Amino acid sequence: MAKCSLCGETETLPFTCKFCGRKFCGEHRLPENHQCIGLEKFKENRTKAIEEWIYEPFRKEYKDRAGRIVKPSFQQRVKESLLTMDMRKLLYAIIVLIIILTIFMGIRR
Ligand SMILES: [Zn+2]
Ligand SMILES: [Zn+2]
Repeated sequence: MAKCSLCGETETLPFTCKFCGRKFCGEHRLPENHQCIGLEKFKENRTKAIEEWIYEPFRKEYKDRAGRIVKPSFQQRVKESLLTMDMRKLLYAIIVLIIILTIFMGIRR
């Protein structure tokens, strides 16, 4: 027996929200129906992670081991990108190649 965190109704089988961990009745179990704080945080973290994944290779600033922001020299950046063989850069290259090929095939037809 538990009470719904939103409407206070007593539930025999309460639903626990996997995002915020609070208990809800059948009506308010969905994150959308109880203004879930956990879901907002989850979405925020996800968008941040995606943004970082996309923009990271283009960022001019890097953090050193102590966490300070450092601006590496051009040579350093070239060396770093050659050494790490970033999968993202490879992915961008493939996307660009596909676009070019599509245009090329379109012209030939
Ligand atoms: Zn409820
Ligand atoms: Zn929730």
